[in-house]
Amino acid sequence: MLPIIGRPVEQVKAPMVFNRFFEERSIDCVMAALELENEAADTFIQSVRGMANALGYIATVPHKQRAASACDELSSRAAFLGAVNLIRREQDGRLVGDMTDGLGCVEAMRRHGVDPEGKSAFVIGVGGAGSAIAHALAEAGISHLNITDSAAGRAEALQLRLSQIFPKVAIKAAVADMQTLDIVVNASPVGMNGDSKMPASLEGIRPAALVADVVTNPADTPWLKKAKEKGCICQTGLEMVDGQFDLMVKHFGFRI
Ligand code: NAD
Repeated sequence: MLPIIGRPVEQVKAPMVFNRFFEERSIDCVMAALELENEAADTFIQSVRGMANALGYIATVPHKQRAASACDELSSRAAFLGAVNLIRREQDGRLVGDMTDGLGCVEAMRRHGVDPEGKSAFVIGVGGAGSAIAHALAEAGISHLNITDSAAGRAEALQLRLSQIFPKVAIKAAVADMQTLDIVVNASPVGMNGDSKMPASLEGIRPAALVADVVTNPADTPWLKKAKEKGCICQTGLEMVDGQFDLMVKHFGFRI
């Protein structure tokens, strides 16, 4: 079995996708979503070590950070981000974590024909998802990266840390000029669940630019609707989820 833990879990799409994958390949495995309070999540995480028939688990909001703290081994990106979404249980009970949210977003861009290498990007909101996306864009060779966050100091702190490991990327903690951008990502929750607000104005954006949103509910956020009116390439939060599916199944030892 392969559980996914979060709170709430109504919005979680992984069980549908994974269970279809298991069924199509006659794999004897099932994914179920567990809604866990923080204390129960801590107990669960330690219990997984002794669950001989668990492949590990998937962590979603708000448990990605506590899941990282409890891992015995982290990928370098997960260590940088202090968060994991995929946790594999080794036969001896050790927990190995990775974070693929950012990679999923970049993979979805490539599926739209937009390779970040050498391009200019702006990421709005650098919490869990946004910092993973900023890291993945830098890893993919973006040349200019602007980041902002409504929480004071958050973008500046990430800018300093990212600049240390990606010295070739010109990273600024500042609003970008839309006219110069190839890629803009809303990685804040603005636009979620019927919220009509916009994370930023798209005034001046070029129609060739890719506008991405991490929000999955609704998939067509007011911001993406506006980007569509401007003729931009639009990427939904659901495409970001799809973009990481192959990486997820590989982390748990399955072949595609
Ligand atoms: P988070 O709370 O860790 O980060 C959100 C960040 O956005 C915070 O730093 C906050 O200060 C900032 N923010 C809020 N309003 C802002 C604004 N108007 N302008 C700039 N910054 C603002 O949350 P998270 O886990 O990163 O999730 C953010 C969104 O991404 C949620 O809607 C979540 O459902 C979605 N998400 C989607 C995927 C996916 O695969 N599609 C994966 C993870 C999260």
